[in-house]
Amino acid sequence: MFEEERSMMVRYQLMDRDIVDRRVLKAMEKVPRHLFMDESLWDRAYSDMALPIGEGQTISQPFMVAIMTELLELKGDEKVLEIGTGSGYQAAVLAELCREVYTIERIERLAQRTKRVFDELGYTNITLRVGDGTVGWPEEAPFDGIIVTAAAPEIPEVYIEQLSDGGRLVIPVGERYSQMLYKVERTKAGPLIYTSTPCVFVPLIGEHGWKEDQ
Ligand code: SAH
Repeated sequence: MFEEERSMMVRYQLMDRDIVDRRVLKAMEKVPRHLFMDESLWDRAYSDMALPIGEGQTISQPFMVAIMTELLELKGDEKVLEIGTGSGYQAAVLAELCREVYTIERIERLAQRTKRVFDELGYTNITLRVGDGTVGWPEEAPFDGIIVTAAAPEIPEVYIEQLSDGGRLVIPVGERYSQMLYKVERTKAGPLIYTSTPCVFVPLIGEHGWKEDQ
């Protein structure tokens, strides 16, 4: 179902906007994005926008999922941490591209629903936990990639600490309603920071993020 829509999404929203990593394009051609949202939204599932998933949260626009995934430069054998599971779509795309995905969601209700979707689709390399992802997942560190799909006021130091040498962190950082996407590479000489694209994400709420009532 929706194969045609998925192909058009890859061609016009991703390739035409210079997403070039063939593995990323292939994964997004494969993962059934509509199954990560309510059936009432299926007619818009492959359109060029973020969509609501309940609890005031959103599933990111396909282009944003693609560019963030591409920045992680996955080859297949990596261990990746995602903060902000939400619908689970981004985690599923990652699961197609690396060895193991660890993902943390702070809202229990979303996490429960998403866990069922992972089970139904047969993803066995995704581990989902409920909690505050701003402290990372120290028991499972180091990670070859960390992707934060909610916006932080600044780059939490713990993420860099939990990266392997050469590992990459992709994170939107900035103000409450507008941010810049950054890639931070951990090297022996210290973190290298690259600026990607302006973006808008829901807030990362927690100890090293925004406070609940801000
Ligand atoms: N990657 C998701 C995007 C979800 S939106 C997808 O593909 O659908 C961002 C998510 O981050 C929301 O579900 C929100 O509840 C969650 N979030 C915000 N702060 C968090 C924190 N400190 N730890 C874990 N999840 C958090």
